[in-house]
Amino acid sequence: MLGSDDTSMAQLEVIIGLEVHAQMSTKTKMFCGCDNDAFGKAPNTTVCPVCMGHPGTLPVPNGEAVKKAIKASLAIGCTVNLRSHFDRKHYFYPDLPSGFQISQYDFPLSVKGKVAYDIVDGSGKITAQKSCGITRLHMENDAGKLTHRGSSTLCDYNRAGTPLMEIVTEPDLHSAEEAVAFAQALRRILIAVDASEADMFKGMMRFDASISLREKGTNTLNPRSEIKNLNSFKSLEKALQYEEKRLRQLWEETGGPLKGNITVGWQDDEEKTRMLRDKENADDYRYFPEPDIPPLVFTAKDIEDLREELPVLPGELKQKYMESGLDEKQAMQLLDQPELRTIFDAVAAKSDAKRASSLVLTQLLGFLNAAEKTVAQGPDAEAMLELLAAIDAKTISGNAGKDVLQKMVTTGKSPKAIIAAEGMGQISDTSAIEKLVTEAIAKNPKAIESYKTGKQAALGAIVGWVMKESKGQADPAMVNEILRKKVL
Ligand code: ZN
Ligand code: MN
Repeated sequence: MLGSDDTSMAQLEVIIGLEVHAQMSTKTKMFCGCDNDAFGKAPNTTVCPVCMGHPGTLPVPNGEAVKKAIKASLAIGCTVNLRSHFDRKHYFYPDLPSGFQISQYDFPLSVKGKVAYDIVDGSGKITAQKSCGITRLHMENDAGKLTHRGSSTLCDYNRAGTPLMEIVTEPDLHSAEEAVAFAQALRRILIAVDASEADMFKGMMRFDASISLREKGTNTLNPRSEIKNLNSFKSLEKALQYEEKRLRQLWEETGGPLKGNITVGWQDDEEKTRMLRDKENADDYRYFPEPDIPPLVFTAKDIEDLREELPVLPGELKQKYMESGLDEKQAMQLLDQPELRTIFDAVAAKSDAKRASSLVLTQLLGFLNAAEKTVAQGPDAEAMLELLAAIDAKTISGNAGKDVLQKMVTTGKSPKAIIAAEGMGQISDTSAIEKLVTEAIAKNPKAIESYKTGKQAALGAIVGWVMKESKGQADPAMVNEILRKKVL
C-alpha cells in the first residue's frame, strides 16, 4: 500500500477556470461599419481599411456592441464599471492585420459576477446545483481566419474586427462535467439577452480552459495548463478529461504540480493535447491604453435602463416551467428552442401547462419527429391556438384533434381547412341532433328519471352520451337546447 497510486490520486483536487469568447450579434463590426455577418460570404469581401489595420484609420466603438456587452454583464451578475477603456494588446500573427488587438486590460467593462448551473444525470434529473464566479467581462475585436493548406496558408479577414465578449471565470470548476454544464448555462444566458447567437457550428463561442491540480484541503493555485481554442462542448469536455489524466500522471511521476504555466492545443482528430508554448506573461503583450478611443463612461442610470430591458433569464424561466409541472428535460427543451417555447407559451396561456405539454411537447413534437421536420417547419403558435380553440369549442374532440394536428404537420394546412376538408366538423344539422337526442333519452331512462325529480345535473349525462356517440362532433349548445325542449 505504500505510495500506492490510489492513495495519492484520491487526494488531488481538479481546479478549472474558463475564458470564453463569444461573438456579439451586431449588424456591423466592433470598430468599423463592415457587415458583421460573414457567414457564407466570399473571403475578404466584408473588410475595410479600419478592420484591415491600415495606418491613419480611426476605430469607432460600436454602440450596439457596447449595449449588448452591458446586458450580458448584468445577466451574469457582473457590476458594470462606470468608467472603462480599451487597450492595445500586441502580438504578431498573420490573422491580425494591425499587429495588435483592441481589448480591455486593467479597466474592463464589468467585474465580479456569478452564474448558477445544474448538474444533470443521464435520465435528466438534477443531481447538484452549483455556481461559478465570473472575474470579468471585456470587449475586444476578433482576428481573421487562417486556413492551412500544405505548406501555404490562406487568410480570410472577414471575421477580423467582429465584436467579441471575453468572459473570464474564477477557478471555481472542479471537473470537465462541471465546466461543460457551466458553459452551457452561460451560452443560454448570452442567447436569452440577445448578446450573441452563440452558434457553436459557426465558431461563435470558443473556450480556453485552464486546469491545475492541488492536494485536497489546500488553497494554493498551482501552475496551470491552458488549453487553447476549444470550439465545442464535446472538445471542451474531452480536452479537460485528457489533460486532467495527463496532469495526474505527471504528478505521480514528479511528485507535484507543473513547474510553470504551460499552453497546449487540443487536437480534435487525435484527441490529445499538444504543447504550444511553456510561458507567457501579460508583459509580453506590451498592453497600453488605446490612444484613438476615448474612455467609456456611463451613468448609473444608463446601466439601470439597460437592466430594465433584460428578459426573464433562463435560470428563472427553467424554475418557472418546473414549478408549473414540467420535468427538467421538458423545461430544457423549451429553454433551448425559442420557437417551441413561443408555441408552448401561447398554448399554455389559453389553457394550462399540462395541456400545453400534452399538445405541444408530446403530440406536436411526436408528429414533427415522425415527419422529420423541425419546429420551424411545423405549425406556428397561431395554428396551434386555432386547433386548441376548435377542441375547446367541441368542434372536434380531443382525439380528432390528434388527427388534425398530424395533418397540420404533414400538409402545412390550417386546422380549419383540415376539419372542413375531412368533414370532421361538428354536426349542427337539427334533425341529425334530434335523432341522437331521442336515442339518448330512450337509452338513459334513469338519468331522465332523476332529472324529473329535480336533479338538473342529470342532463349532463345525456349530453355526454350524445357527444360521445357523435364522436364529439355534435354542437353541444344545440344538443342542450333540443334536449331541454324534449324533456320539458
Ligand atoms: Zn471594416
Ligand atoms: Mn481574448
